[in-house]
Order: sequence, then structure tokens, then C-alpha cells
Amino acid sequence: MNYALVTGGSRGIGRAICLELAGMGYNIIINYASNQQAAQEAKALVEAKGVKADLLPFDVSSPAAIEAALDGWKEAHPDDFIAVLVNNAGIRRDNMLVLMQDDEWNDVMATALNGFFHTTRHVLKSMVRKRTGRIINIVSVSGLTGLAGQANYSASRAAVIGATKALAKEVAARRITVNAVAPGYIDTDMTHDLDQAALKGQIPVGRFGTPEEVAYAVGFLASERASYITGDVISVNGGLYT
Ligand code: NDP
Repeated sequence: MNYALVTGGSRGIGRAICLELAGMGYNIIINYASNQQAAQEAKALVEAKGVKADLLPFDVSSPAAIEAALDGWKEAHPDDFIAVLVNNAGIRRDNMLVLMQDDEWNDVMATALNGFFHTTRHVLKSMVRKRTGRIINIVSVSGLTGLAGQANYSASRAAVIGATKALAKEVAARRITVNAVAPGYIDTDMTHDLDQAALKGQIPVGRFGTPEEVAYAVGFLASERASYITGDVISVNGGLYT
């Protein structure tokens, strides 16, 4: 059976993506780091869509943890196939570069960039064998424009955009598409510390986006209708940057 793996799928944008893909009929592997309660809630919501939901906690910044978790899942599911991979897990550790600590730089890179690399390399092997697949990387407007206080985050997202374009060319002949979705300001736990009232004045649409509005774009890229779109970045940002 066909599964979609969503890293950081338990909360926020990732949870909305799990529900969108579940609505399209995919069974879902919900990855998360540590918040068990949020993961259980996400699992119940996915199952309510009539598909299977497997919780698969692992830290995307740990290559060994990725390997162990995905090998274990494959052993338990010899006949199942991860047809869609959404690399969504990410963290913010904002600071001005002149003050930025090594761990603030390294943690953001390890999660967004190394997490993308190690998870994708693992999942891609079966996609290449099956000659089909969809890889969708959640990046950020910050990786397109650069945002002050986010040199680490902007760099990690710009790097994933570069990798998206390169990998798309590597696997296009195998009928695997690789795209990115770049959200602007989305109302989730990650942005609860931001001053929404001040920031929404900068957004032409005049508000933060919802996780579902990002998930719709991911659903489209995962669908058969998007089979001629690869190596591209779709912005979902209310006109913040075009
Ligand atoms: P949230 O903070 O709301 O949720 C983050 C999710 O990622 C949780 O499921 C969390 O798991 C998981 N996670 C965090 N670190 C790891 C890790 N090391 N390994 C595995 N899972 C991890 O984030 P959002 O939903 O807001 O953001 C989702 C993605 O979209 C991120 O990559 C973010 O950078 C990006 N983005 C967000 C924007 C926004 O405005 N919100 C804008 C642009 C991009 P747990 O619950 O266990 O902690």
C-alpha cells in the first residue's frame, strides 16, 4: 500500500499536510521529535479520514536515528511503499549573526538541511526502484529573501532549495518529482512568539496564513496533476514576496 511520510507531522503545518494527504487516500507515517500527546492527536485525526496512521518518532538531525526508524518501518512493512515524502520538520533559533552561538547555527542546519539529506537519501532508494515518487520540501520565504536575525534559518532553507533543483534533475527520468513549498508567516506554535499585529501590516493579504493553506499546495504537488512540475518552489505567503 502507498504511504506518505511527513517529518514533523504531529503539529502545525505538518499535521495539516498529514490530513490533506490522508484525504487523498494515502496511509500516513507521522514523524515527530518528542511531543507524544500532539502525535497521538494527529494520529486520531488522520485515522478519522479512514486511512492508516503510523507514529514514527525520530530526530531528523540524527542520521543514526533516521536509519534505525526507517529500517524498522520497512521490516514491519515489506510490501508497502513510501510514495510521498514531505520534509517538513524544522526549528528556529533566531539571533543576529554577530551574536549567534555555534549550537544555534548547527542545530538549525542539522534539522532542516541534514535532516532533508539523510531522510531523502533513505526513502529515495525505493522510489528509484519503483520508478515513481513525490518529494516535497517545506522551505520558507526566509530562504528566498533572507530575514534579519535568521542567517542560520535562511541559509538552511536556501540550501534545501538548491538541493531540490539538483535532485529534481537527477531523478526526473525515473518519474520522481522534487519540489519545494515556501510558506510566509503561518499561524502555528512556531510563530506564537511573533507580534502578529505588527507583522501583518507587511503582508498584502493582511493576515497570517493557516497550516491548511500550505497543505493544499503540498497536496497538489503530491497529486498526479502535478506530474510535469519538478524542481520548482511554490510560495504560499499572502503576497509577502513574489
Ligand atoms: P511547529 O513548531 O508548529 O511544528 C514542528 C514540527 O516539527 C513538530 O511536529 C515537531 O515535533 C517536529 N520537529 C521539530 N524538530 C524535529 C526533529 N529534530 N526531528 C523530528 N521532528 C521535529 O512548526 P511549523 O508547523 O510552524 O513549521 C513546519 C515547517 O515549516 C518548519 O520546517 C518551519 O521552519 C517551516 N515554516 C514555518 C513557517 C511558519 O510561519 N510557521 C513559515 C515558513 C516555514 P514535536 O512536536 O515532537 O516537537
